[in-house]
Amino acid sequence: MNTTPTIGVLALQGDVREHAAALERAGARAVAVRRRAELEAVDGLVLPGGESTTIDKLLRVFELDEPLRAAVRAGLPVYGSCAGMILLADRIEGGIEGQRTLGGMDVTVRRNAFGRQVDSFEADLEVAGISDQPGGAAVRTVFIRAPWIEEAGPGVEALARIPERATDGSRVRVGAGKIVAARQGRLLATSFHPEITGDSRVHALFVSMVAAS
Ligand code: GLN
Repeated sequence: MNTTPTIGVLALQGDVREHAAALERAGARAVAVRRRAELEAVDGLVLPGGESTTIDKLLRVFELDEPLRAAVRAGLPVYGSCAGMILLADRIEGGIEGQRTLGGMDVTVRRNAFGRQVDSFEADLEVAGISDQPGGAAVRTVFIRAPWIEEAGPGVEALARIPERATDGSRVRVGAGKIVAARQGRLLATSFHPEITGDSRVHALFVSMVAAS
């Protein structure tokens, strides 16, 4: 694709503006998606964090759930952050009764995986495709009541795992080694929120996936 890709941000809940700004810094044109016609006009889509149970309900209210499932099946590139990662997962642990996902990624995510005691933390993570590039530094990541990937199928590439230590040097007690960023084909998912750090390299990775598709 020679032209600037147009990437939608699902605008039902979450950091819509921050994702749009990061996409624009990464060279895409960002648009809000709330309707089916808007979904049909984008080259890729970001699913922001928020509350996956609420987004699941809103997707049904806005009649976007089936069109989105179909779009994922048809190969639309989608990047899900935090609750967005939950939405992309084929299987979910710790969901509420009746909670559904869009699916597409052959993973089991555990919701609120870090538990109450460490419901938020920051860490500098090595992320494949980003920090391993020439001159690439670790990615500062922010986890907010985040999920992790409990189990992943063979087609899923783990891009980052929970480190042993947080940025403040404290030991990460829960989940060290669990997958927190992954890619499967045109789907990208992170447990963390890259839109709030000012570092748009995760968005740039997604923009390059969209441009290549
Ligand atoms: N805990 C939220 C959920 O289960 C996700 C949190 C987030 O997106 N920051 O949906």
